[in-house]
Amino acid sequence: MIPVMKPWLGPEEAEAASAAVLSGWVAQGPKVAAFEDAFARRVAALHAVAVSSCTTALHVALHLLDVRAGDEVVVPSLSFIATANAVRYCGATPVFADVEPETGNLSAATVEAVLTERTRAVILVHQAGVPADVDAIRALCGPRGVTVVEDAACAAGATYRGVPVGADAEMAAWSFHPRKLITTGEGGMLTTNRAEWATRAKRLREHGMSVSAAERHSGGGAVVESYLETAFNYRMTDIQAAVGLVQLSKLDAIVRRRRELAARYHELLAEELGADVPGLRAVRDPEHGTTNYQSFWVMLPDEVAVTRNDVLARLAERGVSARRGIMAAHLEPAYAGHPHVGLPVTEAFTTRSLILPLYHDLTAEEQVTVVGELKAALRLPLPSH
Ligand SMILES: *Cc1c(COP(=O)(O)O)cnc(C)c1O
Repeated sequence: MIPVMKPWLGPEEAEAASAAVLSGWVAQGPKVAAFEDAFARRVAALHAVAVSSCTTALHVALHLLDVRAGDEVVVPSLSFIATANAVRYCGATPVFADVEPETGNLSAATVEAVLTERTRAVILVHQAGVPADVDAIRALCGPRGVTVVEDAACAAGATYRGVPVGADAEMAAWSFHPRKLITTGEGGMLTTNRAEWATRAKRLREHGMSVSAAERHSGGGAVVESYLETAFNYRMTDIQAAVGLVQLSKLDAIVRRRRELAARYHELLAEELGADVPGLRAVRDPEHGTTNYQSFWVMLPDEVAVTRNDVLARLAERGVSARRGIMAAHLEPAYAGHPHVGLPVTEAFTTRSLILPLYHDLTAEEQVTVVGELKAALRLPLPSH
């Protein structure tokens, strides 16, 4: 079976985890601090706060903005469901906006269509690692006092107008789940250029404590902490951060390899399917940046007679583990009855797209197999040999 994704983990990560365990310091401590510094440098942000997942990073981000009941936060429905859920955690209302067909991301036009007096923030997702047009959306939101929080869960190593995604973000949330480019098993990060947000985020992840547990344990004297507000336990462990440091050192190599593999997919798709399926589209770099190809999605045109799910079933039978394209939260039972505007592009994406296998050590032969099987699954004429 060719899997859809495989993390690129090796003995270096195992040794780093082992060393963290043997050091006796396994909860949030010096490795988390080192991982935060290294990650902030890599994405050119001033501050990074490690947390337990991207989901909790998004929750902390909205909490920092004091988003609460009665407030609205604009989100794409076309995203992993955690994006919308983070808004509900605050008691606020997620407002779904449609996406643009080229990138699968929100645009200034789709956001503007759903802004109201109650809009407090927009969660702008760089979906599947394709950079969204942040400047256009901030130009729309800034003057209205609406904060743009970037959901960069999938976007480590992607670039926007020549700089890393997240470099200039008000706040950006990142994921280290194994489905993303680099992993700590579970884990997340919140980055920002505002010192006061970073300081409070560090408190919010740790029960609202005035002095972090790591500071208390490493300091010599007796330090008595106080609890300044009701907060959370969203800490990352030093074992995870030790793995994260090794993974981060591989990020450039991972992005380079994914972009090579994606270029090969583009060639193969054009050669094998181009003539028969003229409307077939696959994820590409937008004009304003470069993707890390976190997911290589392919969009089937309406003219294709077979359904996407039939294509997936046929591929699975033939040993190719593809996946449905990005989900749409508004179609899930958790959001049944939740009011929203028409979301035609979102619905086309989620029903007509699929994700092809792409991981660091995918081989050229495997790519040929994947495209050949996709061709067969679409019931296209096969070469007669
Ligand atoms: C994966 C993902 C998340 C959730 O990340 P976790 O670290 O698993 O919480 C949130 N948003 C998007 C867009 C994602 O792809």
